[in-house]
Amino acid sequence: MSTNKIAFNLPYLTGNELTYLIEANSHRGLSGDGQFTKKCHAWLEQQTKSAKALLTHSCTAALEMSAILLNLKPGDEVIMPSYTFSSTANAFVLRGAIPVFVDIREDTLNLDECLIEQAITERTKAIVPMHYAGVSCEMDRILDIAKTHQLKVVEDAAQGVMAFYKDRALGSIGDMGAYSFHATKNIISGEGGCLLVNDESYALSAEVIREKGTNRSQFLRGEIDKYTWQEMGSSYLPSELIAAFLWAQLESAEEITKERLHRWDYYYSQLQPLELAGYLRRPIVPEHCRHNAHMFYIILPDALTCQHVNEALKKNNISAMTHYVPLHSSPAGLKYGRSDGDLTVTDSMSSRLVRLPLWVGITEQEQDRVVTILRETLTVEEAPLVTK
Ligand SMILES: *Cc1c(COP(=O)(O)O)cnc(C)c1O
Repeated sequence: MSTNKIAFNLPYLTGNELTYLIEANSHRGLSGDGQFTKKCHAWLEQQTKSAKALLTHSCTAALEMSAILLNLKPGDEVIMPSYTFSSTANAFVLRGAIPVFVDIREDTLNLDECLIEQAITERTKAIVPMHYAGVSCEMDRILDIAKTHQLKVVEDAAQGVMAFYKDRALGSIGDMGAYSFHATKNIISGEGGCLLVNDESYALSAEVIREKGTNRSQFLRGEIDKYTWQEMGSSYLPSELIAAFLWAQLESAEEITKERLHRWDYYYSQLQPLELAGYLRRPIVPEHCRHNAHMFYIILPDALTCQHVNEALKKNNISAMTHYVPLHSSPAGLKYGRSDGDLTVTDSMSSRLVRLPLWVGITEQEQDRVVTILRETLTVEEAPLVTK
């Protein structure tokens, strides 16, 4: 058996990235909002049915734009999971808002929609569901709650490109949604992101915020004859070079997703016996969610077994990863946020979860090696069984 290192993630290149970079370069159209950005916007709008797609230089930037668009004031509260990336909270903290962390569901590890209402106060302005592993949150219920309490919904759909909830693209369901094209995601441009503006009343303001607070976008469309400083904003648009790279990826988004799902399904079938024997739990994808195979994780019975599994994989040259240190227990989370209720599922899951190597091009043999190490580690030792 080979002992070559198995990477956790390898960015996939379609082969057309350099062609389009050369094309952008030869047009001397290097700054933002040129031909490639237009192509990406049109593709994203068609794919997601969102009213407006705006490329940004990261998902973090798109989330920051959403926080500006919502006109959040210091002390306003934003409900979100603790089991997420720093940017989900950080974007709102930059506006002085307070992230209010609620627990996650056992099955999908997404924001538990049943816990949202009890976390709402008179300062609450928005709910920020994050679609973990490209598996959707319970958006119908979340939208209902938002409507009842007049809250806005911003989807952190960083991991959700090409994934769906009841045939609606993730990121296109709330008032706004944010995608990431970071090199660790499914569809990439190195660093990159997109804001989906689904509530059309935000569309013009979003353009202004993205273009240094000016109405330059309208000027470029020929709608006005000069552009001026309109509102508070920043520079959130990427260069055409990034858009050219991204265009090569978007053109292949279907195939990339299909191949990832193929690799994901292989782990899923190969790990079934271990789950049936109670040694681990595989990801749960509800019937009405179409995921994008962004990640394959397993949940072990307890933190100690999780540690053993991590050590065994490492010893065998397999790069696996745990995931988030919950925000509510991180230094900045303690400083800027607060928790609503005890976050026991969050704490438990984060101590027992391991992400397995998954990328376009990983071979069946490599996946078999991962599964074999898992089987050996879990069944040879007298491992405890998963109770939930
Ligand atoms: C990757 C990720 C981000 C950040 O994306 P960038 O494009 O790197 O800014 C934000 N939220 C979640 C949930 C992510 O997975």
